[in-house]
Amino acid sequence: MKVTLITARLRFETAGGVGGTEAGAGENGYLQPIRRDPAPKGKAKGKVSLPGTTIAGSLRAHCAAFDAGLGDLFGDTPEQLADKHGKAEAMRRSQKRNDEKPERAMPSAIQVLGTLLHRRGETFSHTRNSSDRKRGAARTHHFHRVEMLETGTEFDVVLRWDNADEELLERFLDVLKQWHPTLGRGVTRGAGRCSLVGWGRVDYDLDSPDGLMAWLNTERRPNPAETPETRSAETYALDVDLSIVDAIHCGTELNSVNGPKHNTLTAFRHGEEFVVPGSTLKGVLRSRAEYICRVLGLLACKDQQCGECRPCLLFGFAGEENARRGRIAVDDAVIEDAQPDFRPHVAIDRFTGGARDQALYEHEVVAAGWFPMRVRWLGTETGAEAAQDARLLHAVVADLDARYVGIGARTTAGFGTVAVRECRSATFEVSELAGVLRDPVIASTEDVNA
Ligand SMILES: [Zn+2]
Repeated sequence: MKVTLITARLRFETAGGVGGTEAGAGENGYLQPIRRDPAPKGKAKGKVSLPGTTIAGSLRAHCAAFDAGLGDLFGDTPEQLADKHGKAEAMRRSQKRNDEKPERAMPSAIQVLGTLLHRRGETFSHTRNSSDRKRGAARTHHFHRVEMLETGTEFDVVLRWDNADEELLERFLDVLKQWHPTLGRGVTRGAGRCSLVGWGRVDYDLDSPDGLMAWLNTERRPNPAETPETRSAETYALDVDLSIVDAIHCGTELNSVNGPKHNTLTAFRHGEEFVVPGSTLKGVLRSRAEYICRVLGLLACKDQQCGECRPCLLFGFAGEENARRGRIAVDDAVIEDAQPDFRPHVAIDRFTGGARDQALYEHEVVAAGWFPMRVRWLGTETGAEAAQDARLLHAVVADLDARYVGIGARTTAGFGTVAVRECRSATFEVSELAGVLRDPVIASTEDVNA
């Protein structure tokens, strides 16, 4: 028997990770932890982990998209399995004598032996909120904290293939070299973008004494020393640089960085860099896109659950009966040339009309700088539908530039005003966009869909 082992090393280019099953109320509100191995004796937490099922699902989809003949290498999909089980069950139950044999489940030729944490594995938590469409501000009691793996975390994925056909194996490696998956939760907020940074392959011939010795003696996992192919150029639905006109604040962490007397709401960052989270940008894009649709007399549901309106299809929805990911992902944006500052506030005592005692607090803000707002297609989007989606997103940019909306916290107090610095994705002037939109391109949505 010939055994082929393949190692693929993945690096998280954006923070992300696969969520654990247990979510619950922690000391700082509702927490969604990352998936971990069981805790070793004497330790509170196990190592962060990447489940093999997630990897198998991603590789299967990648193979099927690039080389249709490779889709079967990972066996039946969970849906196909459920379907086969269902049919077999129905046959068993039906009293009729039936010569038909139930279809057997197809096993996976390639096994995901496991995933091993190679580098880092530190996590941080990111507080999220959702916005109230009626008030246009953050919803109360909707805070939740999401634990995420830091950028740069690396995992080695180890695959095993017994008696592989050499021609199929070569085809698989060709496709594997181009595997740059997006894994785990928060994909539409730009989380979990991974790059293949190396791969390796070793064959063991277990029928020959030398091969068997090698199999038994060596560290079997191949070294991922081979270079993968670089990611092909991305297509963006929106790619624009925004300058900060007025102080911007993203983040909800309360700290005492400036001494115990100051309650400081610190700005969100990755390491040293100030960041506007993809979730914040996505939230602004969605709520304003809904508004624009309503102004134009188009369908836009209020609870992001209908699954039929354009915003639901573009940004995703989570209804009671069904839910689907949107068509786009919005990346976290690092603020360039960031100038941090602190803005103090005093809470007003509603009874005396004066400042309330002990109620001095401040926001850590980024007073100047610029950042890219990038919206990526999750699939390969083309055609009229995608063009209309892109126009709707650019209409939101025009509204941001016109200062009808802001980004981040306290926009009602003048925070978060931005202006377009450079727009790479529009083929039309942003200033002309209002006119372009009112011209019946978006308004004819229904006709196109019908
Ligand atoms: Zn909807």
